[in-house]
Amino acid sequence: MSAVGTESNPLRVAVIGSGPSGFYTVSNLLKQTDLVVEVDMFDRLPTPYGLVRAGVAPDHQKDKSVTRAYEKSAAAPGFRFFGNVEYGTHLHLDDLKEHYHQVMFTTGSPFDRNLGVAGEDLLGSHSATEFVAWYNGHPDFADRSFDLSQENVVVVGIGNVAMDVARILCKTVDELKVTDIADHALAALSESKVKNVYILGRRGPAQAAFTPPEIKEMGEFAEADVNILASEAVVDANSQKLLDDSNDKNAIKNVETITAYAARENAGKPRQLHIRFCVSPTELVEADGRVGAVKLLQNDLVLDDRGQLKAVATEREEVIPAGLVFRSVGYRGQPLPDVPFNESWGTILNEGGRAVDAAGDQVVGLYTAGWIKRGPSGVIGTNKTCAQETVGLMMQDLQANRMFEPSAPSAEAVLKLIQSRQPDFVSFADWKKIDEAEVAKGLASDRPRVKFTRVADMLEVARS
Ligand code: NAP
Repeated sequence: MSAVGTESNPLRVAVIGSGPSGFYTVSNLLKQTDLVVEVDMFDRLPTPYGLVRAGVAPDHQKDKSVTRAYEKSAAAPGFRFFGNVEYGTHLHLDDLKEHYHQVMFTTGSPFDRNLGVAGEDLLGSHSATEFVAWYNGHPDFADRSFDLSQENVVVVGIGNVAMDVARILCKTVDELKVTDIADHALAALSESKVKNVYILGRRGPAQAAFTPPEIKEMGEFAEADVNILASEAVVDANSQKLLDDSNDKNAIKNVETITAYAARENAGKPRQLHIRFCVSPTELVEADGRVGAVKLLQNDLVLDDRGQLKAVATEREEVIPAGLVFRSVGYRGQPLPDVPFNESWGTILNEGGRAVDAAGDQVVGLYTAGWIKRGPSGVIGTNKTCAQETVGLMMQDLQANRMFEPSAPSAEAVLKLIQSRQPDFVSFADWKKIDEAEVAKGLASDRPRVKFTRVADMLEVARS
């Protein structure tokens, strides 16, 4: 048989997960010169694009425009999409080994991290993950409800996801109704009684994980003021030295914005956003069978032996009454059947994107990119270089003939297999029908799209 990667024997790659890192894998593979590649992408949802659809905030439409580049990749010869097909349910590693030379896992980090404090399981305490997926119309979360009759809401964590959650809570219906926020979320938020939103950062202004555009937006709400205590906006001497030494432009800009907010006059708007620094929740306090307040300790910033500033609790306690709490302290990946996993990192065990076993030896044929490779960090574009790095290793392994030896490396065989295991699979052309129907529904109300939030409704359109 001719070499793998030629016209008569294309390199066959399965990509599991259709978010940004999945699509950057595809574009990197398809641009390899002198190589004939066939890529099949699988996603457990009927819709592609992962967090671009279900994570990026609905009022950040510009960020979603990256899908145009993904559409270009999807239009390339050799690419197929199989939506509504789940690895571990409809497809197993043994199946993939029969039909592909290499398998790439780009399944992201769907789980949230816990705070590890008492009361975290009380009614009214949620992960940001659930809320984000709910307002973005993810079908698994469409039936969730959040008690927006509460006047005080606490968001724990001070990264960009916390900013997204707080922004959606602070915006008016007029600000939200021009976005593609799920209809159920728009309806619930239009009845919101939320008056105070508290964002809690455990460290100081110079260590905030949000990025400058996101903190800037917090000062631009139509009906909400941003509040920062002057005492908490102060940058301590150690932080200032680290800022000066690192010249971290994002952190410097963040500090400038925070300082300006602390000096800003309150305009008396109906909602108040309070961004707090150097505080950590120690308990969610129960009242009437649900969360009623958050107990906090104020923190000092102390240099650790790696020269980093960490939060160390003092004895100064506070209580913030709050009936709704969102923890937004990072995500973690989900272990996948037959794929080595690093439990403490919540990622696939890997070196640069090559899966490895517990002894550090390469697991031939398996690769990873994106959050399930490196953890939940960076912006969408970070996944481009991440996927590029892994594809580089896949090409090295192809040269070295280190890959699966599929007994049936055939596109037709895969189609037959999927038809037998999941007749309700969704092709890219089917997805385009769903996409067009959503955009058409949006046109009527001047919105980018109105999302389908039920798999059955998506399938009905796909089959129409
Ligand atoms: P993140 O940026 O890692 O922020 C997590 C935050 O949680 C940090 O402030 C962290 O504080 C805090 N934290 C962790 N454990 C905590 C604990 N036990 N108690 C209190 N606070 C705790 O994570 P993320 O917000 O989930 O975002 C994930 C990634 O997606 C990030 O790279 C983010 O930039 C990206 N993203 C980007 C956008 C955008 O570009 N607009 C939107 C959403 C998400 P410490 O720093 O002290 O650990």
